Amino acid sequence: MTEPAVATADLRYKRILLKVSGEVLMGEQGFGIDMNTVKAVAEEIAEVAQMGVELCLVIGGGNIFRGLSKAAVGMERSSADYMGMLATVMNALAMQNALEQLGVDTRVQSAIQMDSVCEPFIRRRAERHLEKGRVVIFAAGTGAPYFTTDTAAALRAAEMNCDALFKGTSVDGVYTADPKKDPAARRYDTLSYHEVLAKDLKVMDASAVSMMRDNSIPIVVFSIRSDGALRDVVHGRGTYTVISE
Ligand code: UDP
Repeated sequence: MTEPAVATADLRYKRILLKVSGEVLMGEQGFGIDMNTVKAVAEEIAEVAQMGVELCLVIGGGNIFRGLSKAAVGMERSSADYMGMLATVMNALAMQNALEQLGVDTRVQSAIQMDSVCEPFIRRRAERHLEKGRVVIFAAGTGAPYFTTDTAAALRAAEMNCDALFKGTSVDGVYTADPKKDPAARRYDTLSYHEVLAKDLKVMDASAVSMMRDNSIPIVVFSIRSDGALRDVVHGRGTYTVISE
């Protein structure tokens, strides 16, 4: 990859883990992967990678399969969850492809070993990739059923010593109510981990929030769908909600 285009000293966050839900990748479709949407998200990611931000990605699988969904009714929970984890690998490969087409070096590391498709998750190896300017995409969640990719994102953010866990959603932060349904909904600029848990705000799974609280890693909620929002947020600009102590 080429030299960073801007001084990394301006950056508020130098190493981040970005969690993108599978649903973001389906675009206007009701299901699956919309490559135009993947490309648009990849462009946002490429811009910050080229600025010198060390980037880890965790991508969900909900656009393809969820363990706790209607499609899985009657299935044993663990098997359904493994299917969900495999779905995240498909999304990771789609994102890898889109990023590489934009000239960003990437590696996919999977929590479920599949040698002919991607690397296994090896923390020290992931560290080297980040140092070399590669975007590391962590696939297959935690590798264990009964978890979600939110928890996987929190786990990897802690393991990789990230400065923040970025949650890219379709709205620009956490609101008092659903802003798409309630025009009086107000966006929080800041929230504490405790408030998120006590008010049961549906930002991330409670287990992910409490893991970030235990490790003092802020969660930054922003819109991955707005042009340049990711770039602005890594500089501490734009609109977003920060969840911290
Ligand atoms: N999953 C799992 N363990 C993990 C991560 C994910 O079993 O560590 C399964 C689970 O069935 C989940 C599915 O993978 O429903 C897809 O992940 P998730 O629902 O978190 O995706 P998102 O909502 O972010 O698209």
